[in-house]
Amino acid sequence: MTVIGVDDTDSRDHGMCTTYLAARLASQLNAVTRVVLVRLHPAVEHKTRGNAALAIHTETPAEPAFAQARAELDAIAKTEDPQTHPGLVVTPEAPSTVPATVTEYARTAMRAHLTLDDAREIIRANNYFAQGWKHGRGQIGALAAVGAWPALDDWTYELIAYREPDRWGTPRTVDTESVIAVADAAYPAAWDTVDREEGEAVCVPNTPGPVLYGIRGDNPAVVESVAAEIDSEPPAREQLFVTNQGTDAHLRTAASEPVRDGRAYRLTGIVIEPPDTRPGGHVFFSLETSTDSVECVAFEPTKRFRDHVRSLRVGDELTVCGEVSDGTLKLEKFAVRALQETKQVPPSCPVCGRSMESAGATQGYRCRDCNEHAESKVPEPIARDLEPGWYEVPPVARRHIAKPLIRGGFDAPIHPER
Ligand code: ZN
Repeated sequence: MTVIGVDDTDSRDHGMCTTYLAARLASQLNAVTRVVLVRLHPAVEHKTRGNAALAIHTETPAEPAFAQARAELDAIAKTEDPQTHPGLVVTPEAPSTVPATVTEYARTAMRAHLTLDDAREIIRANNYFAQGWKHGRGQIGALAAVGAWPALDDWTYELIAYREPDRWGTPRTVDTESVIAVADAAYPAAWDTVDREEGEAVCVPNTPGPVLYGIRGDNPAVVESVAAEIDSEPPAREQLFVTNQGTDAHLRTAASEPVRDGRAYRLTGIVIEPPDTRPGGHVFFSLETSTDSVECVAFEPTKRFRDHVRSLRVGDELTVCGEVSDGTLKLEKFAVRALQETKQVPPSCPVCGRSMESAGATQGYRCRDCNEHAESKVPEPIARDLEPGWYEVPPVARRHIAKPLIRGGFDAPIHPER
């Protein structure tokens, strides 16, 4: 067996996508077992949205596979983009038998920045076939893609349909009505195809690249059948990917240390500052964990998710998930563990029923009319718009790697968005 890893061949401005290169390459090789799309930790700022590395598992021997991959990168990698530094790593191993150091490297690459020096050292130590273009930074992701298969046990699927090259950069012809109808019928085996509330076909990108649409789900047959039923311009090619999308592979449970920028966490704590909607419609609140006080934010593009965030109160116990940057955790989902169900209010007068007034510092409360007296405030129930369990951003705001609630396996009731 041979594993081919490739990364950083794409360009936002010049309209390319590493998945397309991998799909083309896979179609030229013999006996491809699977093509793996691995979402990694963003290596650089401009790739924050979804750094994708690709691995092809094939029976083609490593040496000809390496030659074929080099030719394909030479031909279509967007090296003219100053931000694009392609990398290629090829190993004559079965995907499941790559050394533990490579698997560990893949695990880390989903959760933290890694350096090219580390990648080069592992590539050298294992005598892998490798090549970098320009700075060769893509070898980081390429190596991680090689090690990804044994690193994870939760995988999902994406069927990506690509456009005819002469259509790239022109408006896509996809019938949104047909997408919504097919998405409804295939839910929840296929998810994040559309955002029903926003009426948007989430599966159709807005970027100038080669992707026509991408259908995601837990069942390869279902994502393929969804793609087959969409009414659109004729795709030039299609490729089924096995992927860590929708798995939360990026999240780490906080250790006994303060959170760090550029990492994604699952944190449990108590709301200590109430939600505050700031200019632009972004909603902030603060959470106190056992080690930290963390500001959390639901940005405007998370749309209706912000209503749940605005319903939080000081004292609520939550688990929050998201990436920290500039000291602020960008919420992807949260679980209500315990709600503040009451607030402390002055007692009512037992005679006339009106609210009693403070009788002065440490003097308790009294009713002037009836001369009644009480020592302290009393708890009063609060009407809450939240229930215990998990809330998430809608499909239109989902990060590739974030796990949709509908996939299940959560430790509390779920309130899925679709
Ligand atoms: Zn009274």
